[in-house]
Amino acid sequence: MSILPITIYGDKILRKKVDSVTQIDDKTIELIRFMFDTMRNANGIGLAANQVGINKSIFVVDISPVEDYEKYKPITMINPRIVNKSDETSSFEEGCLSIPEIRGEVIRPKEITIKYQDIDLAEQQIDADDLFARVIQHEYDHLKGILFTDLISDELKKQFKKSLNKIQKRKIEIDYPISENTDYRLL
Ligand code: ZN
Repeated sequence: MSILPITIYGDKILRKKVDSVTQIDDKTIELIRFMFDTMRNANGIGLAANQVGINKSIFVVDISPVEDYEKYKPITMINPRIVNKSDETSSFEEGCLSIPEIRGEVIRPKEITIKYQDIDLAEQQIDADDLFARVIQHEYDHLKGILFTDLISDELKKQFKKSLNKIQKRKIEIDYPISENTDYRLL
């Protein structure tokens, strides 16, 4: 098992749009395995490549540890594109491994259709709803440099300002490895 340090709010790579993946080599396969290890070690249910300092269009999701979602299989999405979103929305309190100690209500489409490539770069398409759709949208946003704290109410944004500053300065207590500084290098 290999655990990578997780990038933290304020790290530039979290705001940078990622590059498409054009080929899958052994290093990519290894990265994906490390991403699953890193996510699980931090008790997360989704992780994007830029959260481990890699500027590539890849995320992993595994919601099976959540009660009532045990049947959902772990999934890797490469070069994902959301192609349809429901008008119906839902609100849910989200958190993020890159923004520890903060949770906030985010309104998102309840259902989505997403196209992506699997680890063989084969085209896939799935419909997702509920928690699965939410986690996918959260990770998809990461690949576009968007964090859930961009999507919360103005009131919550004000409320979180001090905490976000603290997080950026790493004045936080967490039990998983994080990147060393705000200028985490772009790999
Ligand atoms: Zn996140």
